[in-house]
Amino acid sequence: MRPTYVAAIDQGTTSTRCLLFDREGRMVSVAQQLHRQHYPQPGWVEHDAEEIWQLVCRLVPQALADVDAAPDQIAGLGITNQRETTVVWDRVTGLPVAPAIGWQDTRTSACLSELTSDFDPAELTRRTGLPLAGYFSGPKLRWILDSDPALRHRAERGELLFGTMDTWLVWKLTGGLHVTDVTNASRTLLMDLETLRWDDELLACMHIPREMLPEIRPSMGSFGTTRHPIDGIPVCALVGDQQASLLGQTAFEPGQAKCTFGTGSFLLMNTGTELVRSRSGLITTVAPSVEGEETVYALEGSVAVAGALVEWCRNSLGLIRHPAEIETLALSVEDNGGCYVVPAFAGLYAPYWEPAAQGVIVGLTSYVTKGHLARAVLEATAWQTKDVVDAMNADAGVPVSFLAVDGGMTSNNLLMQAVADVLDVPVQRPMMAESVALGAAYAAGLSAGYWPDRSLLRSHWHRAAEWRSSMTAEHRREQLSQWREAVELSIEWGR
Ligand code: ADP
Repeated sequence: MRPTYVAAIDQGTTSTRCLLFDREGRMVSVAQQLHRQHYPQPGWVEHDAEEIWQLVCRLVPQALADVDAAPDQIAGLGITNQRETTVVWDRVTGLPVAPAIGWQDTRTSACLSELTSDFDPAELTRRTGLPLAGYFSGPKLRWILDSDPALRHRAERGELLFGTMDTWLVWKLTGGLHVTDVTNASRTLLMDLETLRWDDELLACMHIPREMLPEIRPSMGSFGTTRHPIDGIPVCALVGDQQASLLGQTAFEPGQAKCTFGTGSFLLMNTGTELVRSRSGLITTVAPSVEGEETVYALEGSVAVAGALVEWCRNSLGLIRHPAEIETLALSVEDNGGCYVVPAFAGLYAPYWEPAAQGVIVGLTSYVTKGHLARAVLEATAWQTKDVVDAMNADAGVPVSFLAVDGGMTSNNLLMQAVADVLDVPVQRPMMAESVALGAAYAAGLSAGYWPDRSLLRSHWHRAAEWRSSMTAEHRREQLSQWREAVELSIEWGR
């Protein structure tokens, strides 16, 4: 029978989804479940990789059952994942030997220079495209091995395996294939961005045994066939979530950019086959790659806390009961009442890269209500986007002329209007706002021959909404300068 669908597993920061798409790129089935977030100490964020695998075991059969699909009706499966989150497991039992360290976790920030020995940070950035930051997987992996001599001993004897979530899931699904793709490997601080191979000097300086690392492959290709929880689905793509959404938004040409607003927010611009080195605090990363084709690169502005600030308002402050309520609350007032929130919960990422920065709320007076605070919470995401876009414009030479957006926060109209206001460019959301999952499906479908080529995928992109700036230049300038002062305070406070 002709395959009917492609499947995607989207292993995100807060939830895991399994989705099926048809030939027109329409989502026909989705099964989703949240997983637990563990915060054992300030700045620590952990996940239970086994819990996430158990969710996948439930969600895959559920997504197929919802449309009565048999495994041989699935042309291919693509896996996309929260990047940098680090898992170490036992090669024989298949069980994690430590909690997975989440990408926002800051535990390695204080000892970064020690973790990377005497390696020159500028050379490290030249080789990997990344600043020296605890955000990436290499320092997290080193921390796990340093935390327990028995673990290091076992890793050196080849008994333990390392992986980001893509590697962990494909290992579990296929019953033992230990691989990753270039997009995920490019986030470890261990891969050479030009050769796309593990760099032995970086491994030595971070004291990481090579035997525990997966093989790096192009994002699209053959990654075996599933044996669990369902037999016989070909795994055809592995792609980090932000690179997947670049594909899902069909940003195939150099100069095209997208921004995903989820737990964090991530703006990526395709720079084609040119490896652009940032002078403005951005990351150079790899776009989804195909076996035998020239490598395509991207510039990325990563912001650690976007939706996570809304989650904090709900979970820690009890200000709202559901993320969508932040908009209702913010609409109860006209403006921010002079209040700014800098959510440096994981230090500040792009373009500042200040690991020690701490969150601040400034401009408090007795006039400020929870409505003003809700405004400031949403505006924090808009201003952080502005900081990244300014850096992108400086590095790319061609200004971003419109922004394609996706992710959970884009259902918030007030936020999208604020983003358009501060950027002063149109902001457009496609009908299919699940660009991460769609990108993983596109990668799998292209690799399996379900779709003949990329150009056809463009026709699936339909604009659902557009926001244009209604802010005066003067107002924007004034507010930007207050925001930047608040950022300075956040950096100062951490010193
Ligand atoms: P991830 O893939 O990182 O888990 P999602 O794209 O699923 O993220 O988006 C979830 C995030 O979006 C959460 O942090 C949530 O607080 C935020 N969010 C969801 N809906 C809204 C909304 N209407 N307004 C503001 N934030 C929202």
